[in-house]
Amino acid sequence: MPKLTSLLLRRLRKDYQLSIITLMGLFGVLAVTPYAVYRFVQGNYLVSIADSIIVLSTIFAVLHAWRTGDTVKPGIALAVIFSAGATVIAINLGVNGLFWIYPLTLFNFFMVSPGKAMVLMLMVLASLLGHALLIPGSVFESDYQMMSFLVTGLMASVLTCIFAFRTRSQRDQLQAMAILDPLTGARNRRAMNEELRIAVSTHRRHGNNYGVLVMDLDHFKQINDKFGHPAGDQVLVDFVDLIQQSSRQENRLFRFGGEEFLLLLPNTDVPALEAAAAHLQRQVREDLRGPGGPVTMSVGGAILRTGEPWEGWLQRADEHLYQAKSSGRNCSIIEAKPESQIA
Ligand code: GH3
Ligand code: MG
Ligand code: MG
Repeated sequence: MPKLTSLLLRRLRKDYQLSIITLMGLFGVLAVTPYAVYRFVQGNYLVSIADSIIVLSTIFAVLHAWRTGDTVKPGIALAVIFSAGATVIAINLGVNGLFWIYPLTLFNFFMVSPGKAMVLMLMVLASLLGHALLIPGSVFESDYQMMSFLVTGLMASVLTCIFAFRTRSQRDQLQAMAILDPLTGARNRRAMNEELRIAVSTHRRHGNNYGVLVMDLDHFKQINDKFGHPAGDQVLVDFVDLIQQSSRQENRLFRFGGEEFLLLLPNTDVPALEAAAAHLQRQVREDLRGPGGPVTMSVGGAILRTGEPWEGWLQRADEHLYQAKSSGRNCSIIEAKPESQIA
């Protein structure tokens, strides 16, 4: 039992959106259930049914998010259901129900993207206004109250929207900073470890083939020594641009050492890995220019074997790079066959 609890807590810590949906779901259920019972006892069945639908769908959506790991659809479903429920309740109860629109605003901006939440809030406010205009005297007690509510409701939505946009863009920036190398814009070593781990588990579960190329610039130190560190930096930046342009979109490039890079190639067998290495090597030889002339690279490649950890896979590719360096540089050495195919 304590093991299960720590497992659940770990998942909540790792998945921000799941923790938000769970927390909001819990709040929703705790806040609305007493009202569902109270309205039922009072005989206001419509509001009681709306409350009950909110509670049940919240429980369902939270369970769905936990089961599938998909937090987007449950988030949208909850935002739509809470918005529709709060609108029905506000129309039915008038001022007492209108208070709920303010926490609904916060709830929606937590649940879905700022644009979607804004659209939902505009629809809620428009529905309340429309109902009040169609049936004068319903929802609001006076025109003045209606205007005050619309202005404050709109202000709450717009301010929350601005806040949500800022938070979201800051979060995206932080996420990018955490996985990108600041000099070249290639993914960093932290991202590489994570993606190699994912590749190994995808291979284990679905059998997809993966290859890696470890690339190291030849005699790079001489560029620094002769032309200075900034010149060396520029070569690294140009190298990354060139590799990104010359390799397929689904391939991932990582900088995992000073002038050492790794390219992860999904759905790749030995011939495809050899072809990719030869192609990239030619591109670099022909197009990468340092201040002292052409720059070349050496490459080592390996295909992921079934059952091996990513560290072993990387080490094999690294050993082939070593061999390429000892064979005179400016060449690729790719492992001939994955072990499983060696008779
Ligand atoms: P080899 O052909 O055997 O690979 O020789 P090399 O000179 O490329 O390799 P070595 O490992 O001797 O030197 C790598 C150099 O890369 C040393 C280090 O100063 C330089 N370096 C590492 N990171 C950076 C960086 O961010 N910018 C610049 N300009 N140089 C860097
Ligand atoms: Mg080097
Ligand atoms: Mg090196």
